[in-house]
Amino acid sequence: MELCDYINKVREDFPILSREVYGKPLVYLDNAATTQKPLCVLDAMRDEYLNVNANVHRGVHYLSQQATDLHEAAREKVRGFINAGKIEEIVFTRGTTEAINLVASSFCESQMQPGDEVIVTEMEHHSNIVPWQLQAMKRGIVVKHLPITDDGRLVCSSTSEAAEPSGDDIETYITERTKIISVAHVSNVLGTVNPVEEIIKTAHKHGIPVLVDGAQSAPHFKVDVQAMDCDFFAFSGHKMYGPTGIGVLYGKEDWLEKLPPYQGGGEMIDKVTWEKTTFERLPFKFEAGTPDYVATHGLTKAIEYIDSIGFDMIQAHEQELTRYCMEQLMTIPDMHIYGPQLSTVRSAKGRLLPTGRKNCQLSTVKDAVVSFNVGNIHHLDMGTLLDRLGIAVRTGQHCAQPLMDRLGISGTVRASFALYNTKQEIDILVAGIRRVAQMF
Ligand code: PMP
Repeated sequence: MELCDYINKVREDFPILSREVYGKPLVYLDNAATTQKPLCVLDAMRDEYLNVNANVHRGVHYLSQQATDLHEAAREKVRGFINAGKIEEIVFTRGTTEAINLVASSFCESQMQPGDEVIVTEMEHHSNIVPWQLQAMKRGIVVKHLPITDDGRLVCSSTSEAAEPSGDDIETYITERTKIISVAHVSNVLGTVNPVEEIIKTAHKHGIPVLVDGAQSAPHFKVDVQAMDCDFFAFSGHKMYGPTGIGVLYGKEDWLEKLPPYQGGGEMIDKVTWEKTTFERLPFKFEAGTPDYVATHGLTKAIEYIDSIGFDMIQAHEQELTRYCMEQLMTIPDMHIYGPQLSTVRSAKGRLLPTGRKNCQLSTVKDAVVSFNVGNIHHLDMGTLLDRLGIAVRTGQHCAQPLMDRLGISGTVRASFALYNTKQEIDILVAGIRRVAQMF
């Protein structure tokens, strides 16, 4: 089957994609914010509420045990999805944001003193800035950031004519007070894929753990936390065809053992007395209260759905869409695309396009996100007018105000892709932008 026929078949799994808005066929290009859900996820969740529903871990009765089995099967499914070594290392959270808050809070409480430093990057989502700033306010830690180049790469990974890309430059920022590094795997604004393996290697030379924010990587390519050797990895179900309200924190067992609980309540305790309370074993120590056990089952189905298509196919298709989108956008006068340029996008065969640069590493490719502005047209105006044409893009600062400050802009228009998007949709986007541009 031709790829486009295959994608058209895939689209049938997502009924929302065939709806209209303002009488126009929906073109959904806001996948970095959240993806649509396939029927198998929706059906499984409805079925669980209809036929199984009972609180998990607590009941001896049949339904409770069945719900618990589904919930714990999800943990095993997630473990396999990111190739974690043990299910004890998989903590369910509400999403990436809660996962990062958990680490920031528990890590700072137990491992950091006033004046100790966390290093993030200039391209982080607020979810990987503000939790650390809260700790700075509470505990006097210091939040430092790695700068980026004008084309939206970490300085430590910039490809110059003189130097090969390297994570070593990060050493300049590490001091004896650096206690943790927390970095986005993929920027939600620029699509930059950061060289996290190199950063982790460098950090580990200094005994520093690394948290990787995988919100924008887990949906797009295979993540192997053991090969990456990260200490923590956070991601959200709703950005990878799963339900809202469920996310994952992976943590190496040694680290999770060392960290104190994040929240208190039922499920996370071993024994409670007025004198002393002891906590459950991993991962339950970090899972206070009733978990969203229906959402975890939905996440299982989302992972099975991704597996049924395969990341080889997903990645090749999304890279092709990214390349095609950038090529087409660049034909529009006064187009400014932010982040790594076309030369860093893989061609359909998985190779980088000719770059004219030396050894541009695969680790710095651009992922399925394209942010842009056209001339002086305000991003909000562009987004609003595209919306009237049925095209859903995101506008604004994308929860990354420090990055906007670095780029000297108030916001961008962002098109972001998922496995069900098509080149025809990009043609509609490009035609829409041309039409809007003519109005100004
Ligand atoms: N980090 C990145 C890079 C993101 O793109 C997002 C979501 N836009 C988040 C963190 C936060 O994810 P969530 O809102 O699902 O917790």
